Amino acid sequence: MRTNSSLDAALLRRYDRPGPRYTSYPTAPHFKPDFGERALRNAVDESNGDPIPRLLSIYVHVPYCLSPCFYCGCNRIITRDKAQAAIYLARLYREIAMTAAMFDRDREVVQIHFGGGTPNFLSPLQLREVVDTLRHHFRFAKRCDRELSIELDPRSMSPSDVAEYATSGFNRASLGVQDFDPAVQAAVNRLQTVEETLAIIEACRRYHFRSVNVDLIYGLPMQTPEGFAKTLDTVIAARPDRLAIYSYAHLSEFFKAQQRIDATQLPTPDCKIALLQVAIDKLSAAGYLYVGMDHFALPDDDLALAQANGTLHRNFMGYTTHADSDLIGVGVSAISHIGATFSQNPRDLPTWQTAIDEGRLPVFRGMQMSEDDQLRADLIQHLMCQAEVPASALERRYGINFATYFRDALVRLQPLLDDGLV
Ligand code: SF4
Repeated sequence: MRTNSSLDAALLRRYDRPGPRYTSYPTAPHFKPDFGERALRNAVDESNGDPIPRLLSIYVHVPYCLSPCFYCGCNRIITRDKAQAAIYLARLYREIAMTAAMFDRDREVVQIHFGGGTPNFLSPLQLREVVDTLRHHFRFAKRCDRELSIELDPRSMSPSDVAEYATSGFNRASLGVQDFDPAVQAAVNRLQTVEETLAIIEACRRYHFRSVNVDLIYGLPMQTPEGFAKTLDTVIAARPDRLAIYSYAHLSEFFKAQQRIDATQLPTPDCKIALLQVAIDKLSAAGYLYVGMDHFALPDDDLALAQANGTLHRNFMGYTTHADSDLIGVGVSAISHIGATFSQNPRDLPTWQTAIDEGRLPVFRGMQMSEDDQLRADLIQHLMCQAEVPASALERRYGINFATYFRDALVRLQPLLDDGLV
């Protein structure tokens, strides 16, 4: 994305086509059912054998939400029955214990992220219990080196909860906002006031969270550049350290919730470009730097610094400064990335529950990456984090001739080169 000049509408239209959103390469639909518990155990054994103990990151999935946002494509369960949380956590703790038992104790946890769903569907006390359970089973890095982050829905919490999160060790938060325009909020079934949102950002500051991120979405029904500009002004005035500006993809055939969106209210392609332009203009003027893939950060934020010194990485949890850690996913639908493997837990609650009840690690699919997968994943990682391809380094690392190996891709890249995009 070019952020230092006006968007060229004609160019954008020419390249306006669906593509994969690389939270991993290969993406989850390529995972295979023949990769199961045994394969995961082998991958962990192999990774334990590294002479320098690899660091660990942990992702905890909390699937529950109180009400459905119509744009949502996440794996979540809508319920107002808070008793579900305790039932879920009892099994989650068993999964954590089974998983931790595979890893050598010399492996330090440097990053933990709670996502969902709505992690703050859990009470502050329950969240503390999860952190304590993880601490009991894994070796945590020193507090100053540890990143403990949580996705927050400001509609279902109070600022005083943030004090309790801080006591549990949480030091980063990401708030869903999307748009403050009441017409947009009504169209997507997410009514959220400016006041309740700003109160949570303020509380995160008061309790010394190291960074606060705000998620916005452009391309939602009823959105206008004027309304979105107002939302951006409000958010920028609160000075979050990071902002993610996601493009809404209307895929109602895949995501049932999106069928409740009135497609006639979606912005036209030209309007959507205007929305993105407003965001880029406002954020650039306010001093935010483009980090990559929809993300912006203040110049002194860790992500912006990591990008500047070439240490920025990206994993399932988004951009991170922690390179080369193995990622452990726990909870329904969570994905692990151990060494050169991926493995995923069942996406539906009953199958996940059954596996845990039977004392099995709940892996339902995954894959062992080939050398070619690893090379392409490495290349995509560089593109997403440094916006460049280190051809010589990849040639040395993988023993290839770049021009020969990627001959077909380079031919397909030529029109983009001609358009000045590469
Ligand atoms: S957007 Fe967030 S809060 Fe809304 S339904 Fe999806 S996961 Fe739940």
